Amino acid sequence: MNEKTARALLSMEPAALFKQADEIRRQRKGDDVQVRALLEFSNYCKRRCAYCGLRCENRSLTRFRLSKEEIIDIGRQAHDAGYRTIVLQSGEDPFYTPEMIGKIVSEIAKTDITITLSCGEWNKDVYRYWHDCGAKRYLLKHETADPALYRSLHPDSTFSERVQCLYDLKETGYETGGGFMIGLPGQTVDTIAKDLALIASIPCDMAGIGPFLPHPQTPLRDAEAGSAEWTLRAVAAARVLLPDANLPATTSLGVLDPTQKDHVFACGANVIMQKVTPVRVRALYEIYPANHQKADIIEGRQAVEAQIRAFGRRPV
Ligand code: SAM
Ligand code: SF4
Repeated sequence: MNEKTARALLSMEPAALFKQADEIRRQRKGDDVQVRALLEFSNYCKRRCAYCGLRCENRSLTRFRLSKEEIIDIGRQAHDAGYRTIVLQSGEDPFYTPEMIGKIVSEIAKTDITITLSCGEWNKDVYRYWHDCGAKRYLLKHETADPALYRSLHPDSTFSERVQCLYDLKETGYETGGGFMIGLPGQTVDTIAKDLALIASIPCDMAGIGPFLPHPQTPLRDAEAGSAEWTLRAVAAARVLLPDANLPATTSLGVLDPTQKDHVFACGANVIMQKVTPVRVRALYEIYPANHQKADIIEGRQAVEAQIRAFGRRPV
């Protein structure tokens, strides 16, 4: 049912779809844009996702890990700069045991900042433990709802394991963030309809939908980047299918086409992430090639607030 509706939404004339999504966003979420801090704390990863510059087989990347103390300190600084949500993201790095992450979460949770984790696939007991420590949200994109495409790009786990993690997170009480990439080689409009149907059926509380961008040190180096227009269409369709979800303007969309990063807020998006990763390591979290801002935590917060006001919305 959702898939049929998603297909119908994707076949609409884009301007009409964007208008419908914008109206739903205005009714359900108002004019607020939620600003979230994003701390990338390790670029080590044991996995070999074919699209990602952090994959372990990329030997040309200089790797970094932040200490527990530095992560906690940045969490507090983000809180003092006005953030009320922080996303702690990393590659799948076995250096950080569940206990270490739990300790980091419980220390940062002493401030009134909501903690979102994005550390990949773990079992339900670990997710439950982190939830007990104070993590309330989790981001884990399903990447593509085509199991064969998933298998070809994500050799270290299966699509059903990925989706099971999303159900485990939901059952454990997390606000669950899913999402997928637009333009993975082999993806069709039917795949995007399946992606949308999946996030609607879980249902996800948040969904990150961004274009795939090729990284030169990955097997997909010669593939074409995803399209900005299809990203906007998918975000707009997600707003119609999940009217109360939080939908970010993804960083990859801003890298592909900086003008579309503002436009997506008129197509259903209501969240923006701002990096609080230390400037000295920011360029090393190179999922895909990008220019990295040099703004520190406070300057970055001011810049993003100004950006949101410039297109007539209210940063919160
Ligand atoms: N390791 C965790 C995971 O995979 O869920 C979190 C970090 S991972 C770098 C975060 C997201 O980056 C992935 O969910 C994927 O959608 C996105 N990503 C990776 N490579 C990308 C690429 N080449 N283009 C666009 N997005 C990419
Ligand atoms: Fe690792 Fe995540 Fe990149 Fe896959 S997408 S290689 S799990 S960081």
